[in-house]
Amino acid sequence: MFKHLKSGTVLVIFLLAGCNVASNEMQALNEDFEKDYQQLQVENLEALPNIEVIDGITYVDDILIVNKEISLPEDYSPGLQPEVIEAYQQMFQDGAAEGLDFVLVSDFRTYDYQAQLYQNYIARDGQEAADQYSAKPGHSEHQTGLAIDVGSSDSLTNLKWEFGDTPEFQWMKDVAHEYGFIIRYLEGKEDITGYMYEPWHLRYVGEEAPAIYESGLTLEEYLGID
Ligand SMILES: [Zn+2]
Repeated sequence: MFKHLKSGTVLVIFLLAGCNVASNEMQALNEDFEKDYQQLQVENLEALPNIEVIDGITYVDDILIVNKEISLPEDYSPGLQPEVIEAYQQMFQDGAAEGLDFVLVSDFRTYDYQAQLYQNYIARDGQEAADQYSAKPGHSEHQTGLAIDVGSSDSLTNLKWEFGDTPEFQWMKDVAHEYGFIIRYLEGKEDITGYMYEPWHLRYVGEEAPAIYESGLTLEEYLGID
């Protein structure tokens, strides 16, 4: 994310190293540099994400971010957010009109509940395996109140890759953004998100969702924090 800053630094060093050139050349160099530098500043404004941490919660361009590196405070416990409830209910209802049968598999989780889940998964599969699919406490998107896991009436596919083959997912993958959701852990992006592909895990981002969907990027890539 600092690649533009780095090239700016190189320019400054170049300028300092050029101190012994004749003054008219120096001025031309200065003017060039100023032009480049102004251009750089414009690029930086466009390229660099605006990161704010408020009460221990991290926002990038006003979007709350939780991932393997960025966590939430232990006492952050907002419950499932009203706009998320409204969005998924509308999506399920519109899906039903298409003959689909969605179920809500999981929604908000507290820090303590996530801690318990994570410990159970470690006991069952070992830490390395557990880290591929379960978040450490404080690092689960379910603690934000902005994430849900959805399933179909074919409950055998719940929380399994097979959910990706259900008619529910085949419809949802192309419309979820219209309700403000993105599929957070995309196939083939495991090295960026840190999680295996999870077709069932939706993250509510609101009005930014269509642009993220169109980009085909993970949330981290889209916000420039990958
Ligand atoms: Zn989930």
